[in-house]
Amino acid sequence: MSAKDYIELEQTYGAHNYHPLPVVISKAEGVWVWDADGKRYIDMLSSYSAINQGHLHPRIVRAAVDQLDRVSLTSRAFSNDRMGPFLKKLCEVSGMEMALPMNTGAEAVETAIKLARRWGHQRKGIPEDMGDIIVCENNFHGRTSTIISFSSDAGSRSGFGPYTPGFVTIPYDDAAAFESSIGENTMAILVEPIQGEAGINVPSPGYLKELRRICDEKDILLILDEIQTGFARTGKMFAFEHEGIKPDVLCVGKALGGGLYPVSAVVSSRELLSVFTPGSHGSTFGGNPLASAIASAALDVLLDENLAERSAEMGAYFVTKLNEIDSRKMKEIRAKGLLIGVEFHLGEGETVRPVCQKLMEEGVLAKDTHEKTVRFAPPLTITKEEIDWAMERIARVLKGS
Ligand SMILES: *Cc1c(COP(=O)(O)O)cnc(C)c1O
Repeated sequence: MSAKDYIELEQTYGAHNYHPLPVVISKAEGVWVWDADGKRYIDMLSSYSAINQGHLHPRIVRAAVDQLDRVSLTSRAFSNDRMGPFLKKLCEVSGMEMALPMNTGAEAVETAIKLARRWGHQRKGIPEDMGDIIVCENNFHGRTSTIISFSSDAGSRSGFGPYTPGFVTIPYDDAAAFESSIGENTMAILVEPIQGEAGINVPSPGYLKELRRICDEKDILLILDEIQTGFARTGKMFAFEHEGIKPDVLCVGKALGGGLYPVSAVVSSRELLSVFTPGSHGSTFGGNPLASAIASAALDVLLDENLAERSAEMGAYFVTKLNEIDSRKMKEIRAKGLLIGVEFHLGEGETVRPVCQKLMEEGVLAKDTHEKTVRFAPPLTITKEEIDWAMERIARVLKGS
């Protein structure tokens, strides 16, 4: 079958809830992927930062294969010999006390919302049918009906009502707006340290620190969604480390599964996670032995290969090289580590999709984030030579656009 046939099958039998670039990937290794015809591309998306360790990292694959010789799924009706060691490692890596494992990022966010609400009712005495969680404009926290209820993106939200109440939206990167939005029933603020899907919006220095101070003062939970920014993507293990703070509740996912398996978690304190009691929350697949073995190896790779440092170093190199490209269409580069957004000057109704299409033809797989920004977020294992390879092609496309 040709690439065209595979795309046609997808179009015929798959719901059209995505608009992929017309490339059919059939093989991958490290930062590289190959299409069905054997053409090689460099992966500059890393599945939205779920592949920080590179495609099919041998150590993570080994852990998965070894575990498949033992046991894959137990459910939480029984304990297994993989989950405890994995959660201990996750807590050590994040500097937290306790974790609750789930599968997808959206489930981690849902778990954090439930935690905040229970804490608000039980510990702050907010009446059961009240309580607000503050969120930011242009947020992206996932796709469940509750999460899209507080999205400001019409594409994600419209037509899916009635919406879940209990959320108050404020502008991003505006700590004063947060402070003045707090009422007696405010439970928490849920925020991304950098808004990935909104176009790599990097807030002003000190923003998270301010949020931390206000939360401490007003006894409100600081919930950070590091599903995209976590696990070394921004040049630190977690983006909150850039500001020397710690959240009360941390949502992680994506790269926790090492690109092999969906693994997410809420990581927090013993006190806060104790709002969950047997029967109050759960997941059939959450914390299963296969997931735990894979996630443990995924964390080991991040640590042993110093991927946070690499991300900082390679990110700086990438941005330097981007800045050397003389392109009138480039408007702004926003970056932290290897989370890099290039915003373009575009006319009314124009998007960067044609740029992504050209990049693809050159062998560079990148995707638009929001209409005007191309995201470059390669696996953190990328080398200077690989960046140079990509940059030669990126330069060709940007000069021509
Ligand atoms: C991807 C993402 C999610 C949702 O994760 P899924 O695994 O797709 O459910 C939530 N928050 C942020 C910041 C993300 O980037």
